[in-house]
Amino acid sequence: MIPFDPGFTMVFGEFGGKLLYHSPGSKLPDKYHLMIEFSDGSFLTEIIQLWGAIEKLYNSILDTVQEIFLERCRSEEVDLFGRPGGYERIMNSKNVGKPCPVCAKPIEKISYLGGSCYFCPACQTI
Ligand SMILES: [Zn+2]
Repeated sequence: MIPFDPGFTMVFGEFGGKLLYHSPGSKLPDKYHLMIEFSDGSFLTEIIQLWGAIEKLYNSILDTVQEIFLERCRSEEVDLFGRPGGYERIMNSKNVGKPCPVCAKPIEKISYLGGSCYFCPACQTI
């Protein structure tokens, strides 16, 4: 742990994010993403550099799972009664070279760890 002034200690720092320990009576920082308070008045705060990206990814996963649920399952699969699902994947082998529904740039395929990934090179950048 690396002590800093005033009133907090860096417990962990990586990739621009910081987990800070604040001793009892310390002032809550102006900016943080997560906070855990302990019974002695001390607390931890976490600043996550990629918070916006993580929140966007989380919401996208929730939206996609809800859409799959409403359609029962993916179109390549069947439910418990043998009925095919109605959810059509956008980024899959059938759509390589076809236009992205958001920007119309052709969907691409890459090999990754022995599998394949499909993505839009314009919308899905790092
Ligand atoms: Zn796109």
